[in-house]
Amino acid sequence: MTTGLVRGANAMGHVGWVTVKCSICSRKMNLFRSIDSGEAYACVKCNNFFCSADAKRLSYKCPYDGSELRPYYA
Ligand SMILES: [Zn+2]
Ligand SMILES: [Zn+2]
Repeated sequence: MTTGLVRGANAMGHVGWVTVKCSICSRKMNLFRSIDSGEAYACVKCNNFFCSADAKRLSYKCPYDGSELRPYYA
């Protein structure tokens, strides 16, 4: 039995299962799960993502353009 093919089929079957990286600490966040947990924040302007810990540390302001960071809701 092969394993590579199974993994590929799994990934394709999950629409909305999106992983992004925090642009500060590169922590991986699941946007789908974030709807409940609020772990992912996104800049309203440049669309960078931040984990909740870094968003808090930045006072919910984007370090790149000073725009507001909002909890990500898909
Ligand atoms: Zn982070
Ligand atoms: Zn920004």
